[in-house]
Amino acid sequence: MNCSACNKKLLRTDRYLACNHCRSKYHIECLNLSKEQFTALTTEYKSKWMCPSCSNITKRKQSNVNTPVQQTLVPLVEKPLNSPLENSSCSSTDSQLFSSNDDNLVTMGKISTLLDKKLNNYLSDFVESFRKALKDDVKNLVQAEMDSVVQQLKDDFTVTTNFICDEQSSLKQESENKSHIIKHLESETLRFQKEINVLTNRLTSIEKNFP
Ligand SMILES: [Zn+2]
Ligand SMILES: [Zn+2]
Repeated sequence: MNCSACNKKLLRTDRYLACNHCRSKYHIECLNLSKEQFTALTTEYKSKWMCPSCSNITKRKQSNVNTPVQQTLVPLVEKPLNSPLENSSCSSTDSQLFSSNDDNLVTMGKISTLLDKKLNNYLSDFVESFRKALKDDVKNLVQAEMDSVVQQLKDDFTVTTNFICDEQSSLKQESENKSHIIKHLESETLRFQKEINVLTNRLTSIEKNFP
């Protein structure tokens, strides 16, 4: 395979970066990376690296000033080791993460919309069944409460009527007693009346004998 920048054959000893998107390979020299800079790159960065053309396709809206090739436009000044790399790798990694995440973000958005929908359906089903269960529960509870109140009223009423019955029967008993006494008194009165009559007759006969 040839280097996509210089089109020369990539030797086994050459250091290169392979594009994560189109799989094309670039000499690190063609990417303006030093050996030290290349060695300092993390495995993650290397596995996610995208070639300048792929970065340009996927990052159309974004600046590509931080791609290694673009750095050739700026004359390289001797800087402390790692610092330019850190800058370029950091920002480049960030922008690449960002660009490669753009698709993911869309997918995640879709997934979350789908999830929201499903969750909403599930929730409305749940709320519906919960409402139904609650309705039944409340209905049963109210019914039970009503039943117990009605039963209580019935019991109270029975006690009251029983009391009234008792009162009535005792009154009846009393009145019967009274009427019995009255009858007795009436008979006594009759007896007295007879005796009075007898005594009156005797007195009349005595008055006749002694004028
Ligand atoms: Zn090359
Ligand atoms: Zn590529």
